Amino acid sequence: MSDVTSRPLKIRVARKSYPAVAGRDEQVVLKDISIDIEPRSFVVLTGPSGSGKSTLLNIVAGLDQDYEGEVDLGGPDVNIGYIFQSPRLLPWRTVGENIALALPDGDSRHDRIEEMLRHVGLDGFSSQYPERLSLGMQRRAALARGFITEPDVLLMDEPFVSLDDPTAQGLRELLIGLWNRRPTTVIFITHDRTEAVMLGTRILRLSGANATIVQEETVRLSPSERTDRDKVRAEQNRIFEGT
Ligand code: ADP
Ligand code: MG
Repeated sequence: MSDVTSRPLKIRVARKSYPAVAGRDEQVVLKDISIDIEPRSFVVLTGPSGSGKSTLLNIVAGLDQDYEGEVDLGGPDVNIGYIFQSPRLLPWRTVGENIALALPDGDSRHDRIEEMLRHVGLDGFSSQYPERLSLGMQRRAALARGFITEPDVLLMDEPFVSLDDPTAQGLRELLIGLWNRRPTTVIFITHDRTEAVMLGTRILRLSGANATIVQEETVRLSPSERTDRDKVRAEQNRIFEGT
């Protein structure tokens, strides 16, 4: 792996607001946010709906530059991946083509795509169109597309929401496997507390209006304990007790 991410990722947002629109005042969404993220740590960002989690991720991604503050990705050539809540696969492209599109020009090597599809349990689905896949399978394809570029920083915004529990659990275990194979810096948004504890090495919780970080916890689970439901539940109780 390149050493472009040997420095921490630093997020400083003094203030982020959305401008007033007809019938609604200017809204301050984030305030006094200061987060340092060590390379290859898995940070979970949680908090109520509307607390500004997606806004913060868009700022880190560079998609939103209208804020007071600064984001230092930890190096000049940091490669960012973004996996959204909706899988966002192009419906007129096959699964394999959708993944190839994430790769730089000329690097659409079939064997590499097939190998990645195998890793996410989509062996043989390369030439299928996304509409033929269930939502869970589309999300597997989105994971494959997110990991194949080997991003230094991977941003994930509620990628497993609105799935039935066994499907979501399967995707979480898959993500743990992909991340263990190639640890990368992850910022993962969820409001599912079990998911937060199972995946995160560190959990940050945003408060409501004018959100700032209100709680920070380190998850005390070994890699093998993360798929042990009782261990995860006990750690969840310790972290979120009284919140
Ligand atoms: P979360 O992801 O935690 O649910 P968001 O970052 O999506 O929260 O939104 C935070 C607040 O900012 C919400 O009140 C939302 O309505 C508002 N908001 C989000 N995007 C925009 C936008 N483009 N224009 C105006 N307000 C927005
Ligand atoms: Mg959101």
